[in-house]
Amino acid sequence: GATGPGMNERTSELDRAFVFHSWSAQAALKPLVIAGGLGSRVWDHDGRSYLDFSSQLVNVNIGHQHPAVVRAIIEQASTLTTIAPSTANLARGEAARRIVDRAPEGFSKVFFTNGGADANENAMRMARLHTGRDKVLSTYRSYHGNTGAAIVATGDWRRIPNEFARSHVHFFGPYLYRSEFWAATPEQESERALRHLERVIQSEGPSSIAAVLLETIPGTAGVMPPPPGYLAGVRELCDRYGIMLILDEVMCGFGRTGRWFAFDGYDVVPDLITFAKGVNSGYVPTGGVIIPDSIARDWDTNVFPGGLTYSGHPLAMASIVAALDAMEDEGIVENAARIGRDVLAPGLAELQAKHPVIGEVRGEGVFWALELVADRETREPLNGAVMGRIKAELLGRGLLPFLADNRIHVVPPCVVTDDEVAEALAVYDEVLGLDLLN
Ligand code: PLP
Repeated sequence: GATGPGMNERTSELDRAFVFHSWSAQAALKPLVIAGGLGSRVWDHDGRSYLDFSSQLVNVNIGHQHPAVVRAIIEQASTLTTIAPSTANLARGEAARRIVDRAPEGFSKVFFTNGGADANENAMRMARLHTGRDKVLSTYRSYHGNTGAAIVATGDWRRIPNEFARSHVHFFGPYLYRSEFWAATPEQESERALRHLERVIQSEGPSSIAAVLLETIPGTAGVMPPPPGYLAGVRELCDRYGIMLILDEVMCGFGRTGRWFAFDGYDVVPDLITFAKGVNSGYVPTGGVIIPDSIARDWDTNVFPGGLTYSGHPLAMASIVAALDAMEDEGIVENAARIGRDVLAPGLAELQAKHPVIGEVRGEGVFWALELVADRETREPLNGAVMGRIKAELLGRGLLPFLADNRIHVVPPCVVTDDEVAEALAVYDEVLGLDLLN
């Protein structure tokens, strides 16, 4: 059985003996043991449960163990667990059709990958082949995945030890709370960030730039919804200089913002869309690129130089079909929008009014960040030691948080209920009310 005495210890021992973990110095690790889950909760082998306000890596949009998705995987597994990507498979076609149906007009095809990084990898490849240009521009405050070009397109610290490939250039996107442009208003931030991007394009030489790659709403970097006019302005710059715009919807897509795509809320249509995570909530690893007909046509008679053994894997495809249908039938995207608007927005604003440690609250849907500061005037970020204590205090009260730098990302599943949000808000309230700075 999954529960019983000693199972947590056994799990930890095996993990520490044999498992090499992501993004970590290995020696001091003590990973949380998780044995099961349902909806917005997970638990260990002793039955200690946690309210999952991380959605793991912000991917479990439909909640843990959604029965329709689990059933679809079991049914597909009993029919055909795996098949080569060169075959035609019903689940794959049904999954692709459902994704294309939700994309803007003109998008007609899906290239499936194993996750988000290789979705971006292939989108960059398509842009380079389509334009005959080499450079990709992306922001310093970004995460695009951990493969060859995707990690070099990433802006954060993880890029630097991996920076082997060339032809990637970084710029600053808008972030009014810590403006790189001395801006005082969202309008100024937008205008000046666009001016900066245009100068980077001109200085790099527009004819060398294949694509601008942006997270529609930068996620891991801090949940930073772009100010009014910014994405439309980037679109306009890309058009003016013959550059393709790739929007990375890996974290912000498929319900997280309360919309199917985050960019549906902005005045912009990209040339390529990348997705993963929320499309099937990560029940089976998958991702992909959504391609408009105008670009897919490049490879009507020319061979597309890319592919993966597990592209369009049947278990992943069956889980996409079931997840998207359940999200539609159960109004799960609408729930994320409502929770954001009516419950999280006022609830988090109330916390901010009460706790000086919250410098800023940003977000929408079930995609929020609390920026924690030692001083509201100077906006000095809370340091790692204090953040570590906050994490321990939240976990100790049964809330599994998502922490990044000096922020708490409030990112529950899209199926989260009003009561669960109330429970989480009470835990944040209690922990942020502790004497954290001394
Ligand atoms: N793009 C964004 C915006 C992400 O947040 C992530 C993962 O966190 C990725 C790409 C990479 O996805 P994966 O880890 O599935 O390769």
